[in-house]
Amino acid sequence: MEETDVLIAGGGPVGLLLALELARFGVRTVLVNDRADTSLNPKANAISARSMEHFRRHGIGPRLRAAALPPDHPTDVCYVTRLTGREIARLTMPSSADAVAEARAGLGPYDCAEPPHRCSQIYLEAILRDAATARPDVDVRFSQRLESFQRTGDGVVAEIRSLDDDTTYQVSARHLVGADGGRSTVRRQLGIRYDGEGGVTRQMMGGAMLATLFEVASGQDWLTIETAWQYWVIAHDVRALLISVDGASKYVMLTRIPDGTDPDDIDDFELLRLASGRPVEAEIILRTPWTAGHALLAESYGGDHVWLTGDAVHLFTPTGGLGMNTGLDDAVNLGWKLAADVQGWGGPNLLASYEVDRRPAGARNLAFARGFAESIGTFDVDPVIEAETAAGAAERARLGAHLADHGRREFIIPGIALGVRYTGSPLVCDDGSDSVLDAAHEYVPTARPGHRAPHVWLENGEALCDRFADGFTLLRTDFAVDAAALLQAAAATGVPVTLLDVAEDAVRARYEAALVLIFPDGHVAWRGDAVPVDAQNVIDRVRGA
Ligand SMILES: Cc1cc2nc3c(=O)[nH]c(=O)nc-3n(C[C@H](O)[C@H](O)[C@H](O)COP(=O)(O)OP(=O)(O)OC[C@H]3O[C@@H](n4cnc5c(N)ncnc54)[C@H](O)[C@@H]3O)c2cc1C
Repeated sequence: MEETDVLIAGGGPVGLLLALELARFGVRTVLVNDRADTSLNPKANAISARSMEHFRRHGIGPRLRAAALPPDHPTDVCYVTRLTGREIARLTMPSSADAVAEARAGLGPYDCAEPPHRCSQIYLEAILRDAATARPDVDVRFSQRLESFQRTGDGVVAEIRSLDDDTTYQVSARHLVGADGGRSTVRRQLGIRYDGEGGVTRQMMGGAMLATLFEVASGQDWLTIETAWQYWVIAHDVRALLISVDGASKYVMLTRIPDGTDPDDIDDFELLRLASGRPVEAEIILRTPWTAGHALLAESYGGDHVWLTGDAVHLFTPTGGLGMNTGLDDAVNLGWKLAADVQGWGGPNLLASYEVDRRPAGARNLAFARGFAESIGTFDVDPVIEAETAAGAAERARLGAHLADHGRREFIIPGIALGVRYTGSPLVCDDGSDSVLDAAHEYVPTARPGHRAPHVWLENGEALCDRFADGFTLLRTDFAVDAAALLQAAAATGVPVTLLDVAEDAVRARYEAALVLIFPDGHVAWRGDAVPVDAQNVIDRVRGA
C-alpha cells in the first residue's frame, strides 16, 4: 500500500494552497481531485489582501497579478439600470497597478504589502496547480476520487478511485484533509453537519441563481456604461451582476432564477438582452446553476487524524468575496500544525487549536457576508427608475445613495481581510494589552498576540513579511536583548525558530516589543522586552504541548 504523510481530498484553491503550505516544511503530500482539470467556472473573482500575502510567500503573486484583468483595467463597481442605461452609483477603486503603487507608498485602506486583487478562480486554480505540481514533496493527482477512509489509530487508510481506468487503490497517511468542497465526502463520512441558514431567498444573492460565462462578439454597443470590473444591473424585470473576467470580451453574469423555474428553461440571450437593454451577440461558454443565501458552518472541523477545511466547513453567499478567502486562511492555519505533528515538534494539543482559531473566524466572516447579501438583495425596484422624468431621477437618487454606501461597505474591507485574530487560541501568550476594534472597514495594525503580524516597509524597501521564516520567526528589534534562551528552548524541542534582527524604528514602533515570536502562519504568538524566565513554557505553549 502507498504511504504518505498527508492526503488531501480536493484540488480546489484551498486544497492546493494547503499542499503548498505543507511543502514549506518538506512534508510528503498526496492530493487527489475528482475533476480532470482545474475549475472552468469563474466563481471567485476577488482575492483578498491576506490571501495575496499568502500567495506572495509562495512566489506566485506576480503571476496572479499578470493574470485576468490587465494591470491598468479599472476595478470599479457600478450600479446601473441597464448596461446601456443609467449609472445609479459607482465605487471607484484603483487598478491593480495603482493599488500596488498605493500600497508601496503606504497609502490606501490596506496596510499590507499586497493589496486585494481581482482575478478569476479559473486563473488562480491553474496557477496554484502548477505551483503545487512543481514541489517535489507534493504529488498532485487529478481524475482521482477519494471514495472512503478508515481510521487506523495513528492515521487513516483511504480508498481512491482512478477515474481514467476505474480502478481503485489504497493510500495510508498520518492525516487526511477534506478540502473537497460543499458536498464533502469526508465531512459526510464523519457525520458532521452544517449549522446555520441555507438558501435564504432574496431578490438577489439569495435562492436559486445561474452563473453564465460568455464571450461577447466584438464591435457591439451592448455596454455603454464607463468601464468597470463589476456591473450590478438593478431593474424591475432583471437583477444581474456582470463581472469582467479577462478585462476584454469574457464576462460572467450572475442572475437570480425565478422560484420554480428550471435553469434549463432559461434563455441566456433574453437575460443578456434584459441586462444590456439591447440584443447581445455572444458565445455562451458555461452555465452553472447554484444556490445563494447560505451562511453555513460545520459543527466540527474534524479531529483524530481527519480534518476539514474550506467550503467543506463553511458555505458563504459570495457577497464580500469571503468564501474562498476564508478557506485559504484555514489552510494556512492548518498546514503548519499538520507539519509539526508529522515532524514530531507539535504538542498533543496543537491540532485541536485549528478549530479553536478557525471556527470563530468562519462565523465572523459568514456574518459579514450575510449582512452584505441582505443589503444588496432585499430591496424592490420601481420601474420608474428608468424613466427620464423627475420621478425617475428621484428614484435613481434614492437607490443610488443606498448603493453608494453599500458599495463602500462591501468592497473596502481591510478589517475583514487583515483583522482576523486568534486571541482565544490556547497557543497564544496573552500579554494583557487592550483588545483592538474588529470592524469590516477599519483595520487596526497591532502586534498584540493572536493578531496578524503587522506589515512594515523596511528602510531598504523590502516588506518585513518577506523576511519571515517558514517555521517560527523570532523578530528582535533591539540587538542588545539576548534571545538565546528562547532559541535554546525551541531547539530542545525541535521547534524551527529563526532569529530575525530588524532594529528599525518603524518596526519597533509597530511591534512595541524587543522580541516578538511569530507563528509560521504570520500571526503573533508571544512578545516581550526580554526573554521570559520560563522560556521553555512559552515554546511549549506555542507548539501545543
Ligand atoms: C458565484 C460565486 C462567486 C464567488 N465569489 C467568490 C469571491 O469573489 N471570493 C471568494 O473568496 N469566494 C468566492 N466564492 C466562493 C469560492 O468559489 C469557494 O469558497 C471556493 O471554491 C472554495 O474552495 P475549496 O477549495 O474549499 O472548494 P472547491 O473549490 O469546491 O474545491 C473542491 C474540490 O474537491 C473536489 N472533490 C470533491 N469531492 C472529492 C472527492 N471525493 N475526491 C476528490 N476530490 C473531490 C471537487 O471536484 C473540487 O475540485 C464564490 C462562489 C460562487 C458560487
